[in-house]
Amino acid sequence: MQELIRKLLADLGEDPAREGLRDTPKRVEKAYKFLTSGYDADIDQVLNNALFTVDYSEMVIVKDIDFYSLCEHHLLPFFGKCHVAYIPSTRVIGLSKIPRVVDVFARRLQVQERLTNQIADTIRDKIAPLGVAVVMEATHLCMSMRGVEKQNSFAVTSAMQGAFRNNARTRMEFLELIKLRSAVPGLRDSAAARYECVGED
Ligand SMILES: [Zn+2]
Repeated sequence: MQELIRKLLADLGEDPAREGLRDTPKRVEKAYKFLTSGYDADIDQVLNNALFTVDYSEMVIVKDIDFYSLCEHHLLPFFGKCHVAYIPSTRVIGLSKIPRVVDVFARRLQVQERLTNQIADTIRDKIAPLGVAVVMEATHLCMSMRGVEKQNSFAVTSAMQGAFRNNARTRMEFLELIKLRSAVPGLRDSAAARYECVGED
């Protein structure tokens, strides 16, 4: 990877040998390995010993989870807040593990819709809740830095499953708690918001 970064620097018109850039390939490799470390993460290991059987069926919410990801179209960051809710059937996930699940999927090359769905699907698969909801709000640097469609550089996506999909009151209770009721597009049909960064540019 370091050789590729050296080549990239030269192609950008830089001198990879100058003092400030000498160690850049090493640093970039290290940074990218960390930012894509989700590929090597084992979700079962992440959740190890944190799934509990309970007699509890009220909504569980973890909101304002910070996340940082890389858009797969431009390899530029998109980042923001993730809100997760589920209604347990027989099992719950330790609360501290929810942000870890978000990190596992955020630390990969992503599009926001897929990231949102992967978090929801993982919770569904691991504890079979009565419903699960994930809403992500993010700023995409590939759009805001390049000045493309500035008004759309902020995107909201959602994944609603089970009770959150079928029951408008449950869904509204969740959206009320994260204060996003009017900001989430596409919620009438519970579909994920249609959004893509400018992938073809
Ligand atoms: Zn992009």
